[in-house]
Amino acid sequence: MDTLSHDPNCIFCKIIAGQIPSKKVYEDEGIYAFHDIHPWAPVHFLMVPKEHIPSMAQLTPDHAPLLGRMMTLAPRLALEQGCRPYPEGGFRIVINTGLDGGQEVHHLHMHVIGGPRPWRKG
Ligand code: AMP
Ligand code: ZN
Repeated sequence: MDTLSHDPNCIFCKIIAGQIPSKKVYEDEGIYAFHDIHPWAPVHFLMVPKEHIPSMAQLTPDHAPLLGRMMTLAPRLALEQGCRPYPEGGFRIVINTGLDGGQEVHHLHMHVIGGPRPWRKG
């Protein structure tokens, strides 16, 4: 039994718990990454903390190491998933926050989007 907080009504908490299927990209003790179900581009996966944090708005300084690990992991996973190397390739990171920010799922997540253009969106 871990001590990370979960929300029983949260779709991403259910994905992390394996209650809803997902195509896993990466997992460690604090981070889960999986393919977005409606990809914008040839590569589009989401990175989430296993802890239920609703959005960036709830972050505290204690979360800095976790967010730092997500940021530094993203380039490695992006290459593994088929993004071409910088500078010709690269990727986009998006973290929608709140309704004005376009956030639909209220469990903090980082979109990692890339691969050769054209993209379906963005
Ligand atoms: P946002 O608008 O930033 O909250 O983005 C939520 C993202 O979650 C969207 O890109 C959705 O396509 C994606 N999404 C929603 N449900 C699932 C699911 N069950 N598996 C994978 N991705 C999902
Ligand atoms: Zn959650």
